Amino acid sequence: MLEVLNRITEGKGVMEDIALIEELAVGMANNSLCALGQLTPGPVLSALRYFREEFETHILEKRCPAGTCKDLVRAPCVNSCPAGVDVPSYLSLVSEGKYAQGLAIHRKRNPFALVCGRICPAFCEKRCRRGDLDEPIAIRQIKRFMADQEIKNPWTPPLLEANKGQKVAIIGSGPAGLTAALRLAQWGYQVTVFEALSVAGGMMAIGIPEYRLPRDILQAEIDNVRRAGVEIKLNSRLGRDFTIDELMDRQGFSSVVMAIGAHNSRSLRIPGEERDGVWGGTDFLRRVALGDKPDLTGKRVAVVGGGNTAIDAARTALRLGAASVNLVYRRTREEMPAEALEIHEAEEEGIKMTFLANPSRVIGVDKVEGLELVMQDLGEFDDSSRRRPMPIAGSEYVLPVDIILPAIGQSTDVTCADSCGITFNRNTTIKVDRKLCTTRPGVFAAGDAVLGPATVIEAVAQGNQSAMMVDEFLQKGEEASKESWLD
Ligand SMILES: Cc1cc2nc3c(=O)[nH]c(=O)nc-3n(C[C@H](O)[C@H](O)[C@H](O)COP(=O)(O)OP(=O)(O)OC[C@H]3O[C@@H](n4cnc5c(N)ncnc54)[C@H](O)[C@@H]3O)c2cc1C
Ligand code: SF4
Repeated sequence: MLEVLNRITEGKGVMEDIALIEELAVGMANNSLCALGQLTPGPVLSALRYFREEFETHILEKRCPAGTCKDLVRAPCVNSCPAGVDVPSYLSLVSEGKYAQGLAIHRKRNPFALVCGRICPAFCEKRCRRGDLDEPIAIRQIKRFMADQEIKNPWTPPLLEANKGQKVAIIGSGPAGLTAALRLAQWGYQVTVFEALSVAGGMMAIGIPEYRLPRDILQAEIDNVRRAGVEIKLNSRLGRDFTIDELMDRQGFSSVVMAIGAHNSRSLRIPGEERDGVWGGTDFLRRVALGDKPDLTGKRVAVVGGGNTAIDAARTALRLGAASVNLVYRRTREEMPAEALEIHEAEEEGIKMTFLANPSRVIGVDKVEGLELVMQDLGEFDDSSRRRPMPIAGSEYVLPVDIILPAIGQSTDVTCADSCGITFNRNTTIKVDRKLCTTRPGVFAAGDAVLGPATVIEAVAQGNQSAMMVDEFLQKGEEASKESWLD
């Protein structure tokens, strides 16, 4: 059994090894005559029961998410970047002033260096070994510097394989869709991206505010994808303007990648929420990004939520002239999912934070006049490993406000479900297997639509993976996999 386990930790395992370990462990437990033999397989069986996905990741992706199997972990920063960007190589090239070469290495895994240099949460820095001594290396800032040096040299992505004569459709032009499109175009497919909105970029264009991600910066990287030969059709919504049947049966697309993100703001589910003046956080940010900026001069705004979307909505409201912005969160500052720097900057700008409070009712006759809040106490730990907020009876009070922006999460718009022939999970994410294959053959999915609201670099990682899976699907029989190319 040790031999098989070692094989997996060295990245040499095969899927059959999982069944083999199980068989050996059960056999040992049932047939041993001493307690040692009966009990030792227990931890292995528990690991298989609760962490099967980790075994599969070691075998299928040759990756150790925990960063402990030394044969699979070159450097903790590379391992913790969802797309596996080769951080040490590009940092070293930057130190020699070789920015173009550094960027070329970066783009093999992540074509959005300009974007991620500005807004990536930098998972890599959290595992940087230098942090054990003093501070992590400023990997994201160095990435930004490197990418900025090359901004005057527009990138035309190299075509890596001959024209395959097959068409692939990508639904959604966020980082997942654009990354998948770029890879497939580089591998010789004719790729069309269908985008519902009038702008490309997904949440990078209509979620993340411009003061954090300037639009000319984003546009430069979208143009790179276009230069690879990808056609982006704007104002083309799946379910309204076309169906997957039409794409595959009549328009000759051999495969489809669904990268439709998670754009619906979750509602507060409290009385009065339908009143004029309650706007979903992402709806508000989208409206502003598309140029329809509401005048909030003199308005008192409450934002509900503790994540980055809540902070972005609050800071955007302030920039639109709001007299006051109060961010209401049901836990404490320590539990806020938003980046610490974002919280700090929001406070510096004058946003007030109300912790341990949860909305219970919207007050007002026709329009919003206030938000009733109930004070909370923190109870036992819940599934998210954070302490569960518990309402304190009789603690209700009213916060006088004119506008309420709920930013407590997003879900995927499933109204296109009937026109897709794919299955959605109860939480609205798209049902996929480990190969990102949906329940409909030839249709794959990637990004927030699979993961739920995540990050740009996680969407990029799934864009890479879905492209590999499409390629494998279309070239099946050749056992084609682009894993080696990405390295
Ligand atoms: C306010 C906010 C701030 C954020 N800040 C950060 C940050 O600082 N750092 C970070 O890394 N991440 C951040 N994120 C998260 C990040 O933007 C997303 O995780 C990422 O964009 C998801 O990429 P995606 O390609 O899966 O989906 P999206 O970027 O959401 O793109 C999906 C695209 O599909 C289109 N679409 C949807 N339905 C259809 C249809 N039926 N037909 C055709 N097209 C359709 C949409 O219009 C959209 O363009 C933020 C998100 C928000 C909302
Ligand atoms: S994309 Fe983000 S996580 Fe990956 S190397 Fe760059 S900053 Fe780090």
